[in-house]
Amino acid sequence: MITTHNLGFPRIGGKRELKFALERYWKGEIAESALLDVAAELRARHWGQQATLDWVPVGDFSLYDHVLDTSFILGNVPARAGGELPGGELDRYFRIARGRSAIDTQACACVHAGEMTKWFDTNYHYIVPEFEKHTRFSLNADRMLEQIRQARQQHPQIKPVILGPVTYLWLGKSKDGSDKLALLDDLLSAYAQWFHALEQEGVTWVQVDEPVLVVELSDTWKYAFRKAYFQLQTTRLKLLLTTYFGQLQDNLQLACELPVAGVHLDAISAADEVAKIIDWLPSHKILSLGVVNGRNVWNTDLSQTLDWLEPVAARLQHRLWLAPSCSLLHVPVDLLSEQKLDTEIRAWLAFAVQKLDEVKLLAMALNQGRDSVAAQLRENHAAISSRKRSVRVHRADVAARVTTIDESMGVRQSPYPQRAAVQRQKFRLPLFPATTIGSFPQTQQIRKTRLDFRTGKISEPAYRQAMRHEIEICVHEQEILGLDVLVHGEPERNDMVEYFGEQLGGFAFTESGWVQSYGSRCVKPPIIYGDVSHPHDITVEWMRYAQSLTQKPMKGMLTGPVTLLNWSFVRDDQPRAETCLQLALAIRDEVLALEQAGIGIIQIDEAALREGLPLRKSQWGAYLDWAIRAFRIAANGVKDATQIHTHMCYSEFNDIMSAIARMDADVITIETSRSNMELLDAFDQFQYPNEIGPGVYDIHSPNIPSVESIVASMQQALRRIPAQRLWVNPDCGLKTRAWEEVKPALRNMVIASRQLAGDINQSA
Ligand code: GLN
Ligand code: ZN
Repeated sequence: MITTHNLGFPRIGGKRELKFALERYWKGEIAESALLDVAAELRARHWGQQATLDWVPVGDFSLYDHVLDTSFILGNVPARAGGELPGGELDRYFRIARGRSAIDTQACACVHAGEMTKWFDTNYHYIVPEFEKHTRFSLNADRMLEQIRQARQQHPQIKPVILGPVTYLWLGKSKDGSDKLALLDDLLSAYAQWFHALEQEGVTWVQVDEPVLVVELSDTWKYAFRKAYFQLQTTRLKLLLTTYFGQLQDNLQLACELPVAGVHLDAISAADEVAKIIDWLPSHKILSLGVVNGRNVWNTDLSQTLDWLEPVAARLQHRLWLAPSCSLLHVPVDLLSEQKLDTEIRAWLAFAVQKLDEVKLLAMALNQGRDSVAAQLRENHAAISSRKRSVRVHRADVAARVTTIDESMGVRQSPYPQRAAVQRQKFRLPLFPATTIGSFPQTQQIRKTRLDFRTGKISEPAYRQAMRHEIEICVHEQEILGLDVLVHGEPERNDMVEYFGEQLGGFAFTESGWVQSYGSRCVKPPIIYGDVSHPHDITVEWMRYAQSLTQKPMKGMLTGPVTLLNWSFVRDDQPRAETCLQLALAIRDEVLALEQAGIGIIQIDEAALREGLPLRKSQWGAYLDWAIRAFRIAANGVKDATQIHTHMCYSEFNDIMSAIARMDADVITIETSRSNMELLDAFDQFQYPNEIGPGVYDIHSPNIPSVESIVASMQQALRRIPAQRLWVNPDCGLKTRAWEEVKPALRNMVIASRQLAGDINQSA
């Protein structure tokens, strides 16, 4: 018999119940007990939704983040969270999660939140564990044990999910520069206690997540794996060493040799390692295969999966377990809540609940033969072949156009120095031109107008009129502030990806396809289901209007192909690079239409370029090659006189600077203010050839930057980059800020720009 299980279920709730309960709790509107009740109800509901599996996960639920939970279970809580401050464990937890607990009503009671960073190559963010030389661990697993008891009332076989010791150490940061691996011994004794507590609770199988096995590991880290698992083998628990998000490659043998009871392999992203792991895995161990994609929203081709799985099952028999490839945290909960989605497209999709049905069906087909699920297989086959053949997916015109791409399309007419001279003539900008990144405050009024339009309360002409009015306000304010290159402010955009996706061909949108990004924050990624087309101009009318309001250059504002790709659920029936090229052609059309309409400066945002980097550094080059090529095709069809800008956020560009330079944008504006020194260091090693606007203040904070601080940042930049190639701008869009904050901040920015230019002109 084949065993079925799940690695983790989305926590936030199909209607984002956890989000709303958390936010009400933080505001003091509900008590701790009410929050915990919602959490318990959600867990119970989720176990119910997983009821037909042989083993259900426990411990995958979290009030904020499972890595932070692990820190609390291991007693690794930064001192600033508690001690003298009032409140209990939950208060300490939220202080580290988000800087304040519900009882910290005074702003001064805030502590600085734990650093947050991306969970491998997903869009989920975890709270980074903090280590110091003197960190000591002590077990506090009561909450998990309580959840185990809760789960047992619903399901006979429960399997705790815990983050493995090596990945836990790997993900953390040493705060005092000490070697975190020196903590391994003490950490292992806490894990041994943890395992003991689980044994006492009557647990048999434990899922130990060690996703770090899919990245490049040094010998020291490989040794840490051996040490950890050989030392922990005294437990009577059966450990399922769980890897996901990629191939094991040179860690495969290591994973097979560790003294555990079984291994989980992500058979979607490491499909070609299935045969190898079967050969290497000792015969007393079980092999769990992740056969349903936990990172995407498409139906599994069940017959095709059975074709390769049947021989595997025949060989492994009861040693084979089936699961989704990774935790289902990364997909929406239930397709049944999507009532408005086009029915043809809907039939191609599977969210968490449907993915577990697929796991179950595959197991039934293996256990009892395909005939036992013939009807379901037929239905699945119909959906799979309708998607393969659908004219909505495959557009001959798009495919044909992609084949006509030649490299000259990605090359500007003249090299940067020549076109820069043409642009200087044309725009006559002062030194240190002052500009912004695109969006201006999204006021209540703006949001209401958009909502009213979407819900049909106001007509299209009324909506357009209202948005034009917002653009007027925005342009007027920028004129008063004295900015040099203006923007229209993006009032018509809900989100930089959704806005474009809604108007391009090949995108679909869900009503409640929410996925947790961090804490209570969720995103609703668009679904790219088909060949991408550009049926009509998207931004041209707005930009033309905005330009008509001012003598200054108006900067057109677009989202780039790589960002559209990285922030969507993408097709699994063609390589990402191919989809990215189609997106590039669509954005190219828009760029050329803007140029045609007289917009002389066009910014193409690539906020998510860095996020697409593969987990293994050895694969970075290939990704950057196609990503940069796509950007170039989107951007570089313009004439010399047209100035192309791009914008990137989330610092840490040092290691990809040369790739960024290959984009050949005339100007790049880049988030630097939170790591000023670090980014600028990159320019010591690499001479960035074109113009650059290092973000001079952090838009994520309500603080108003002083003229001096802006001048000081720019002077740092000046040490590495000549004045003629520097711009002055905030580090990102201003949509989350209020006008009261934006006006004084930009006023100081313009003053700083003039002061810097004055200094240069004087010394000249
Ligand atoms: N142009 C966008 C804005 O200003 C860029 C957003 C981003 O980089 N995240 O809002
Ligand atoms: Zn940004």
